[in-house]
Amino acid sequence: MASTTSKLELRELGNTGLKLSCVGFGASPLGNVFGSVSEEEAIASVREAFRLGINFFDTSPYYGGTLSEKMLGKALKALGVPRNEYVVSTKCGRYHEGFDFSADRVIRSMEESLERLQLEYVDILHCHDIEFGSLDQIVNETLPALQKLKNAGKCRYIGITGLPLGIFTYVLDRVPPGTVDVILSYCHHCINDSSLEALIPYLKSKGVGIINASPLAMGLLTESGPPEWHPASTELKSACQAAATCCKKKGKNISKLAMQYSLLNKEIATVLVGMKSVEQVEENVAAALELTASGIDKETLSEVEAILKPVKNQSWPSGNQQG
Ligand code: NAD
Repeated sequence: MASTTSKLELRELGNTGLKLSCVGFGASPLGNVFGSVSEEEAIASVREAFRLGINFFDTSPYYGGTLSEKMLGKALKALGVPRNEYVVSTKCGRYHEGFDFSADRVIRSMEESLERLQLEYVDILHCHDIEFGSLDQIVNETLPALQKLKNAGKCRYIGITGLPLGIFTYVLDRVPPGTVDVILSYCHHCINDSSLEALIPYLKSKGVGIINASPLAMGLLTESGPPEWHPASTELKSACQAAATCCKKKGKNISKLAMQYSLLNKEIATVLVGMKSVEQVEENVAAALELTASGIDKETLSEVEAILKPVKNQSWPSGNQQG
């Protein structure tokens, strides 16, 4: 169990001035995306996360068809701490009903999210999974609308998220500096896929903060395996399962190794992991503290990397594949 005396490392998020805990709380599981979670467990998980030094919480209206935002809102309120002690990001443009990156929709979306989160402002508003929209609309219409929300004090910083890494360069090459403060990339900086690494110098040159989500590859790098809807190929799923079994045989846990691997690169401000129980919060914080104290288990990491070599950097199609 994580010690209450050691604190999680804080890392700067690009030029925002925000200092995020290196482990961030991904709230998609609070929308029952990875199996059902009771309100009590959701509130207790957020409370334990905050107690152990996690100060960054990420959600979206898409997760559980708005359920994640509502649960996170309740849980943050229940903390009863000043608003500036935690950082919240939510998203716009992706909904249970489909995608809509129009200016009107994202402006309305912000108001709806703030109501569900019971907040006056969010720290970061992301355009959610932009590869499913038109990237030119993101540049010419969505981001200017988000700029208005920023000027009105509804969000402090603006981000873009998605799977194919080319979307980030497409957008960042077409907007004035300071338009996009952060990017959120997922499933590209975990043991089976480290393709985000190559983009880091470019992102730094643009002054953009980096959030790395899904260190467990959305469940691939766990003993219990991914959810039914996971888009990975059978080959990738089998390789990850073999890696998990190898760890288990050695008395090790693949999720701990995966968390630690994702935390190694300090150019990444925070590693967002989806958590749905107090136990998972404690395990993931403990993994980070142990990494700081004694480093990663290099022997097990090389065995796992050898098993995953044939599928290294294998991803899956997402969106319109532009950019
Ligand atoms: P993840 O890789 O963090 O895996 C989450 C899964 O691992 C869940 O089933 C969770 O219950 C389980 N888990 C967590 N800790 C564990 C532990 N110690 N042992 C065993 N299992 C454990 O994937 P994710 O949740 O999709 O990603 C993290 C967060 O990043 C999301 O919740 C979301 O906030 C954000 N995210 C955003 C985007 C986007 O914007 N497009 C995409 C993916 C993720």
